[in-house]
Amino acid sequence: MSFTIQNALIPSDTGYTPVDVQIVDHHIHAIAPHLSTIGTPIDGHNKLLLPGFVNAHTHSSEMWQRGIISPLPLELWIAELYDFAPLDPEQVYLSAVGTAVETLLSGGTSVVDHLVMIPGQELETIAAAVRGYRQVGIRAFVAPLIQDQALASGIPTGGCEQKYESYIRTTEATLALVEEAVDRFHRPDDGINLLVAPTGLQLCSDALFEGCIDLSDRYSLCRHAHLLETKAQKLLAQEKYGCSAVEHLQTIGYLGDRTSLAHCVWLDDADIEIMAKTRSTVVHNPLSNLRLGSGIAPILKYRQAGVNVAIGCDGSASNDSQDLLEAIKIGSILHNVTDLDYHHWITPHEAVEMAALGGAKGLNLSDDLGSLTIGKKADLVLYDLMNLSLLPRTDPIGLLVLGRPVNVVDHAWVNGKMIVKDGEMCNVNVNDLKQALCDRSQWSTKRQAPSVAEAEVGYRSVMNLPSIPQGYA
Ligand SMILES: [Zn+2]
Repeated sequence: MSFTIQNALIPSDTGYTPVDVQIVDHHIHAIAPHLSTIGTPIDGHNKLLLPGFVNAHTHSSEMWQRGIISPLPLELWIAELYDFAPLDPEQVYLSAVGTAVETLLSGGTSVVDHLVMIPGQELETIAAAVRGYRQVGIRAFVAPLIQDQALASGIPTGGCEQKYESYIRTTEATLALVEEAVDRFHRPDDGINLLVAPTGLQLCSDALFEGCIDLSDRYSLCRHAHLLETKAQKLLAQEKYGCSAVEHLQTIGYLGDRTSLAHCVWLDDADIEIMAKTRSTVVHNPLSNLRLGSGIAPILKYRQAGVNVAIGCDGSASNDSQDLLEAIKIGSILHNVTDLDYHHWITPHEAVEMAALGGAKGLNLSDDLGSLTIGKKADLVLYDLMNLSLLPRTDPIGLLVLGRPVNVVDHAWVNGKMIVKDGEMCNVNVNDLKQALCDRSQWSTKRQAPSVAEAEVGYRSVMNLPSIPQGYA
């Protein structure tokens, strides 16, 4: 399987250079002007070639609830999310395909799916998502979302004694499930990787985290989790551990260069130092943080402290799309309002590097992915610079990041295999996908789950919000 991309623009020290890029045996073989053509020629004239981005945190099955949940903070939003009728594996398959397609058509060639599993059909859920990712051909990092504590325990108590029902499955059974999934589905050479992924300290015991560390060590798996997404989680960590969540993760040994942590909005300077020292990765999910009012992650501070940052869309019920270019745009310019010193602001080139190399580093794959480097795997995206949204000819990366690019992905390859050709998906019929999504859903009016009303009283009290006036709904 060989091909040569001819005359494509790539960023260089002096601006942009037109080059030929030879791909041989899944890898970048040579990059230079006027190379001989090996294998199939691909026209790169007026096109920009970049390494594929990593959608470094999402929950694919939330696609079924996108656009529907009212403006609520995470702790109440999640009660609403969990109130929906459970999905079936076919829906999980379809939302994985949909997530992969939207990721690819916005420049991503890898996706980290913190996968919410159907209770009682956990392995079927994973199998369905894996089937979707294999069919599309995206590089997938499936991170089965696990917890071993009931949802209500994720809200700080404010010192009040609380009794929670126990979780539906024991810690041991959950870990056994993950191990079985690893055994059945972890095939890195085939583009399907499993991660250990407790949802976060707010809903998981130390025993669950420690079991995940053990699995990660025994099977060489990357580690993933949510971390300090909300102020409530910061309060909860102090209540539970008497120290910060980051200190606690360090104490139990979860941090490291194979660990990526989604959100990281509420870290203080000491926490940031620990993240840098342990070489852990922050996954920035700016749209979700805005949508749920979680806060603005201190990304400029992370960058100054040398913490690796990747970019994710987060699940479609808190974004509500899987447009990586949008996440990259908002995730870079959002921070200009947090620091008057514009020398600290993130440039479009740096934003692209965060999304590509930052994502690869967070998965411990920076030797293989994330840059246009000879010897790396050919996970590549070719953008059409003749698209109206990328004209006139100025700075292609500047406009790709700061503009509003529409349908600009011309070609994409994963492991040297063509997945997008002339703007169309090669392996899935998108019209069939659209019809299937339509057939399995219905227009829905404003709704509110009873569990939200129950959780709301305690949440408002502990967050020092005025109690809800009578008659308010
Ligand atoms: Zn998430």
